[in-house]
Amino acid sequence: MERERSMEAVKETVDQSLREMRETFASGRTRSVKWRKAQLGAIIEMVKDNEEKMSDVLFQDLGKHSTEAFRDELGFVMRSATTALISLDKWVVPRKSNLPLLFYPATGKVISEPYGTVLVLSSWNFPISLSLDPMIGAIAAGNTVLLKASELSPNASALLAKLIPSYLDTKAIKVIEGGPDVATILLQHQWDKIFFTGSPKIGKIIMAAAAEHLTPVTLELGGKCPTIIDHHSVSKDMKAFGCEENLWRKVGILQWTSLYLCRLRSCRTEFCFYSGTYIDMFKPVIRSFFGENPKESGCLAKIVTKKHFQRLSRLLNDPRVKASIVYGGSMDEEKLYVEPTILLDPPLDSEIMNEEIFGPILPIITLRDIQESIGFIKSKPKPLAIYAFTKDENLKTRILSETSSGSVTFNDLMIQYMCDALPFGGVGQSGMGRYHGKYSFECFSHEKAIMEGSLAMDLEARYPPWNNFKLNF
Ligand code: NAD
Repeated sequence: MERERSMEAVKETVDQSLREMRETFASGRTRSVKWRKAQLGAIIEMVKDNEEKMSDVLFQDLGKHSTEAFRDELGFVMRSATTALISLDKWVVPRKSNLPLLFYPATGKVISEPYGTVLVLSSWNFPISLSLDPMIGAIAAGNTVLLKASELSPNASALLAKLIPSYLDTKAIKVIEGGPDVATILLQHQWDKIFFTGSPKIGKIIMAAAAEHLTPVTLELGGKCPTIIDHHSVSKDMKAFGCEENLWRKVGILQWTSLYLCRLRSCRTEFCFYSGTYIDMFKPVIRSFFGENPKESGCLAKIVTKKHFQRLSRLLNDPRVKASIVYGGSMDEEKLYVEPTILLDPPLDSEIMNEEIFGPILPIITLRDIQESIGFIKSKPKPLAIYAFTKDENLKTRILSETSSGSVTFNDLMIQYMCDALPFGGVGQSGMGRYHGKYSFECFSHEKAIMEGSLAMDLEARYPPWNNFKLNF
């Protein structure tokens, strides 16, 4: 009864919020560049003023270190809003199109039009940046926005719900807290665009709901991103330059930053192919980072919930998988702690090799010929990213031309996410649509084609009676 009453209250809040946002959009206020810039500036101010509070909630929800919180969330959001703020004048300029001579003297251009009222649903692993970054794109493009952050990072969600109304235009930008039941109510309404970050399973629910109203969607989903380590080609090159250690730092440390320090990014490595034999090279690198007792290092975040912990425990406790542990493997349910763990050649048909792990467990598949990795990647759903440490141009060409993924990064890991000059997004199972930098502005804009004809000239052949003239546009 209590729950029914509170869901009724949510329905009313959603109805009223939508009404207000639609009225605000219809008033034309959000289309003004001045309004957009003021909101972007307010986002920067909000993050600056509340850096400590935001860092605290990220620690409470996820055990995230403040250095990490700034790099991946607060600093990231401020940079993204600053880019939009300083680039907006350029982004909004209509683009002139060069029309073929046949259309002379007509002229053509493309203008970016805001969709209207958009819904942003975000996930728990980067609760501040994955909420505010899409909002920045939506605002830059001139939309009104409603955000629902994840119920699994409740402190971050509550802080955003408190701060956003005190910094931004409350009639145009709204936040609602809640879990799947609230999301379900939101999805029963018609939106002009839905931007979703989360799992492929829920992505399908979002897309089905959007289809009811033919609403365009951007889906930023997950999956298993592979890393190929072509040890023979890279280490030869590294040795020549006398810096083989750099490779191991990069591969080893970044593997682990990808898993844990970077807080379980969706574009982290989920397994890697390795062409060498010295797997032991990984171990000192991990030790140098977390010490002999990673649990006490202060650099490892906790697993987000008991349910997530139990899932990881189930994946790891498959006897065939357990037998493949060559490093780590300890777990503490009370502290929601999983030790950084390396698996060497777990069975390819095991769940851990086929389900998204989303935890600090790295399966390594050793191959005699690294080119074989391509066949494996092709047999799996398209990932958000493929990483390859290689100097072999033939392998690079094969990766680019034979596989499909949201992005490919050679000789590094995950930096493509931070670079807003590049589009970020998935393909197939890893999502659809793209954002970051100018791509965010485009993600929330409809590109409207404008043509200006002339009454001074016309073509007789356009009108009946038809005289067999072939007019070829
Ligand atoms: P999730 O799909 O469970 O939840 C995401 C959002 O959907 C939350 O706001 C949640 O409240 C809402 N939701 C949950 N159930 C729903 C339902 N039945 N109907 C409507 N909405 C519902 O994902 P998560 O656990 O929060 O995040 C982890 C997933 O997100 C992983 O798969 C990860 O790879 C992916 N991810 C992708 C990116 C990216 O940029 N591509 C970034 C972060 C996370």
